[in-house]
Amino acid sequence: MLVNLSKVFQGEEKDKQLALEFDFSNEDISCDATFSQPVKAELNLRKGNGETFIKLNVKATAVCSCARCLKLFSREFNFSQDFVITPDILTQPDPEIPVSSDNTLDVKQLVYQELSLEIPNALVCSEDCQGLCQYCGRPKEENCGCEDKQIDPRLLVLKQLLQDDDN
Ligand SMILES: [Zn+2]
Ligand SMILES: [Zn+2]
Repeated sequence: MLVNLSKVFQGEEKDKQLALEFDFSNEDISCDATFSQPVKAELNLRKGNGETFIKLNVKATAVCSCARCLKLFSREFNFSQDFVITPDILTQPDPEIPVSSDNTLDVKQLVYQELSLEIPNALVCSEDCQGLCQYCGRPKEENCGCEDKQIDPRLLVLKQLLQDDDN
């Protein structure tokens, strides 16, 4: 989504606010997070002496799958990021913020970029998630009791030895 910022860059508009919503439900931002609800973005632009200051606020809710127990959970992402656009950025081939020489800013691309940086590599439902039981595959917090039933293989050897002694 391209927004023309010529008036801001040229100082005709000193302040500009934009509130936008984006559909990221079909975008491949993260393999563990799905954004089925619209992602809200707010942009505050302020023209300084030459440069333009941009504050981006993003608010999004994702359905994530826990890296440890595979359970689905909802996570809210709410963050801001500041950018400074100097006139020379507009002519750079690969600027850190998606602006181009025709004074347009690709807001959706910017939100996509910042949101993907914000999502951690391993999403966990809670910091103390214990993951899955290695015996039955159910979440450990369900207290399946498998671990108590398992005999340590070393003990098994010992038990065998004791049995042999009996004979
Ligand atoms: Zn978990
Ligand atoms: Zn189990």
